[in-house]
Amino acid sequence: MSGDFELETLALHTGIHRSQFNEHSEALYLTSSYVFDSAAQAAARFSGAEPGNIYSRFTNPTVTAFEERLAALEGAEACVATSSGMSAILSCVMGLLSAGDHVIASRSLFGATVNLFNNILKRFGVETTFVSATDVAAWQAAVKANTKLLFIETPSNPLTEISDITALAAVAKKAGAWLAVDNCFCSPVLQRPLELGADLVIHSATKYLDGQGRVLGGAVLGNRELVMEKGVHGFLRTAGPTLSAFNAWVILKGMETLKIRMEAHSANAMEIARWLEKQPNVARVYYPGLASHPQYELARQQQKTGGGIVSFEMKGGKEAAWQVVDATRLISITANLGDTKSTLTHPATTTHARITQEARDVAGITEGLLRIAVGLEAAQDIKTDLARGLQGL
Ligand SMILES: *Cc1c(COP(=O)(O)O)cnc(C)c1O
Repeated sequence: MSGDFELETLALHTGIHRSQFNEHSEALYLTSSYVFDSAAQAAARFSGAEPGNIYSRFTNPTVTAFEERLAALEGAEACVATSSGMSAILSCVMGLLSAGDHVIASRSLFGATVNLFNNILKRFGVETTFVSATDVAAWQAAVKANTKLLFIETPSNPLTEISDITALAAVAKKAGAWLAVDNCFCSPVLQRPLELGADLVIHSATKYLDGQGRVLGGAVLGNRELVMEKGVHGFLRTAGPTLSAFNAWVILKGMETLKIRMEAHSANAMEIARWLEKQPNVARVYYPGLASHPQYELARQQQKTGGGIVSFEMKGGKEAAWQVVDATRLISITANLGDTKSTLTHPATTTHARITQEARDVAGITEGLLRIAVGLEAAQDIKTDLARGLQGL
């Protein structure tokens, strides 16, 4: 498939390599290894002289199809699939950084990402400075001689803060560092970070790419040099945080409907956000599609819609927030997001419970905060389900 097609067409047709059976739907190759015609061919495959599959820790046709499709959607030269979003971030760092390197990361990252940088990578000599997601000058000021990577998530989880990708790409370039963007919340349908100057895009395919809450997966995308043999893929080949063929197949099929789902999630989220703003017990609504969002203009330039995630703060703190959660009958109480079914989370006691209180305070994760990943139910039904807890106060 060439770049002449629109995104929704690429999402259906990229990565198809029909077998001798001429199947119409993508085949699922459940095999751990591949047979060679001869000793000479085996040797040529292992040396890299002949392209082709060897062993599914590092290549599998179904996984390759997923990688080709996601690369087409992000406009990336190369993609490496991983077993989860977290292993995508780990593979990115392990593939590209060394002990003694310095990372600047947004303060408003997914909880596990903060822990990965803070608790694990630190033990291996990679030091991280956390700065505000929105203050470009703070990123510039945090640059050191050994800064190798700038890492952001935009919109952020759960407060939907918007980081300026173009401005941070310029900071990275000047510092001789790479900018990595976790594009989980937007997906390539709403935002294409490589076009805005980012060097690397990270995905948790577990979220919108699968889109139906079934399997875990992840990916790292960028140019061939960073992502393939000497970089991220080199780490994956040796260390093995590989995406399974089955999960790749599920996500590959999920991507076929990514565009219409993202548009429907966004439309529903916009309606819920506007409605929440009018609720007397809601202190504040965080949604990049609302004119009240502090980076509304930047969001409009950088992403196509506000996306599917809405966070809001209850006036009554944790008690009021838990009441909303416990009064739901339709919305699922679960930490996942990007599912067709709406999900509701109390970040302070779940996704962000393992970071320190101080880190939560700085990141603005208050006790009254709730995050709803708006699904594809009728917006009216979602409102009715939330209204029960909101009005019971
Ligand atoms: C879920 C998530 C991750 C981690 O992905 P997993 O597939 O759960 O490992 C990383 N970043 C963001 C923004 C996420 O929402």
